[in-house]
Amino acid sequence: MFIVSEASVLGLSPLVVEGISVEGELVGLRARPPDVWVACPGCDAESSRVHDYHERTSTDLLIDERRVLVRVRRLVCPTHGC
Ligand SMILES: [Zn+2]
Repeated sequence: MFIVSEASVLGLSPLVVEGISVEGELVGLRARPPDVWVACPGCDAESSRVHDYHERTSTDLLIDERRVLVRVRRLVCPTHGC
């Protein structure tokens, strides 16, 4: 696990990379924000419960001449009805 402090290259905030894999023509990175608990942008309640993963493929960043696919977790807000 390591922190990508230059994640703005991908249009993302700094990330902690939890895993790397080669997936055909892509290099897959599984990542999360540095903080385990993240505040909901709607109601400010904190959550760490993963709902699913958002995928984004970089067209500008290459690793070993392969495009990079970044998977970042999406969390569930604990507030009912938010
Ligand atoms: Zn919320």
